[in-house]
Amino acid sequence: MREIDVNLITEKVKDLCIEANSVLGDDVLQAFDQAMKQEESPMGLEILKELKENARIAKEEKVPICQDTGFAVIFVELGQEVHLVGGDLSESIHEGVRRGYQDGYLRKSICHPFTRANTGDNTPAIIHTEVVPGEKVKITVAPKGGGSENMSRVVMLTPSDGIAGIKRFVVQRVKESGSNPCPPTIVGIGIGGTFEQAALLAKKSLLRPLDHKNPDPELAKLESEILTDINKLGIGPQGLGGRITSLAVHIMMMPCHIASFPLAVNIQCHAQRHKEAVI
Ligand code: SF4
Repeated sequence: MREIDVNLITEKVKDLCIEANSVLGDDVLQAFDQAMKQEESPMGLEILKELKENARIAKEEKVPICQDTGFAVIFVELGQEVHLVGGDLSESIHEGVRRGYQDGYLRKSICHPFTRANTGDNTPAIIHTEVVPGEKVKITVAPKGGGSENMSRVVMLTPSDGIAGIKRFVVQRVKESGSNPCPPTIVGIGIGGTFEQAALLAKKSLLRPLDHKNPDPELAKLESEILTDINKLGIGPQGLGGRITSLAVHIMMMPCHIASFPLAVNIQCHAQRHKEAVI
């Protein structure tokens, strides 16, 4: 059994919150480059260039990529051979978020649903913990902006809707979302499981780097077909018209109940932020 002090987790979460909010991944920058080669609208092209420039400034000056520094969504893969000492895992993560958002001068965006009173420190975080084999802890911090999260949906399709039903719903969702999720977006899709599991699959699918192909050829094909349909909508970068409405479509799938066909669409804005560390 390996002992890990939860104070180490607090420190990692703090650093990851700051880094995720100021350093866009190379895969996203490469996707911008690729999009610039395909974009035909002069305005769309200009916006893509500005997004790249914005990412450069954020990284160099250590400032947030976007004013909306998001809900701190944390994925933890906890090795079953790990013995956590020194405190409570969840509280150590909340404390890391507290410190990261404070020390990194990141906007605190979390509030009481009714009174809208701000919690003041961007907590609570949303924590998804999975126990895995091994003696390590992997932490991924994925801040999620409100604009794109608001455009996300879960729907319980009927089995007879089939793949055509998935395509119809996803493309319509992106169409209705228009400029709200700050395109170009990454569209995360969760298929199967239960109501809540489909949403989690959609969110987890966004963690896959943009330059990694879906390992399932059937899903890779479906991703490509949906992306093609989305990029025919003409919404374009920032919704001002153009070819590139989305940079990628990512799908995760699992079996579902014989009576069900759950589908979730989690839309991610161009500020595709996530950083991970392994302890
Ligand atoms: S949706 Fe994304 S890019 Fe738009 S304001 Fe929110 S975090 Fe920023």
